[in-house]
Amino acid sequence: MYYIMLSERISSIFKKITYAALRVGRNPESIKLIAVTKGQPIDKIIKAADLGLRIFGENRVQEAREKVAQIKGFNLQWHMIGHLQTNKVKEAVRIFTLIHSLDSEKLAIKIDNEAKKIDKIQRVLIEVKLSEEESKFGVKEEELEKFIDAIVNLKHIKIEGLMTIPPYFENPEDVRPYFRRLRQLRDSLSEKYPFLSELSMGMSHDFEIAIEEGATMVRIGTALFGQRIT
Ligand SMILES: *Cc1c(COP(=O)(O)O)cnc(C)c1O
Repeated sequence: MYYIMLSERISSIFKKITYAALRVGRNPESIKLIAVTKGQPIDKIIKAADLGLRIFGENRVQEAREKVAQIKGFNLQWHMIGHLQTNKVKEAVRIFTLIHSLDSEKLAIKIDNEAKKIDKIQRVLIEVKLSEEESKFGVKEEELEKFIDAIVNLKHIKIEGLMTIPPYFENPEDVRPYFRRLRQLRDSLSEKYPFLSELSMGMSHDFEIAIEEGATMVRIGTALFGQRIT
């Protein structure tokens, strides 16, 4: 039963992604769905993989590790979308294809170090904090350029774009200015740093608006899997 429901939710989300992209003249295939599996039981995640989803987002290293160990046989990508503590980096670089939440120089240096040890180039996004009401984490917009300058020469990290978690608004239209701001930041910085292309923004509640504003990755949990159990 859950299989059918999940399959319908997945196709409904892909439809919404497609329509949102087409509304603004974007190629729907330029948008990646990150299925956020934090707090979801393993059997749901296996069903999602079975139904073709390949990129899963987790916000805690330990939870991700347990899931990775239990799901075999799919060619999955795991993305770290939550705040990363430096003492978890060693393990994180072994698990995650992409870290969305790079938010300090100290963390960048640690990631670079640990990635070097395993001969990996760790892909990262910089988490940007666009307002005081936003989550505790992220690089402030006015410090972003200086931040990139400080880490751009680290050889074992590859910066691919920006991520943000805007404040929650009942009406998703109210989030639009935040998404637009992140895109403007990416556009203006990409003259100097052409490698900035990805925009990770938009969750269950507001991903269509994020896509209209340029999101290349949307992070969707509850709209796919229902309420989290943990
Ligand atoms: C939990 C989480 C999401 C998914 O939220 P939903 O509202 O369930 O879609 C997206 N991004 C981050 C950073 C999260 O922590």
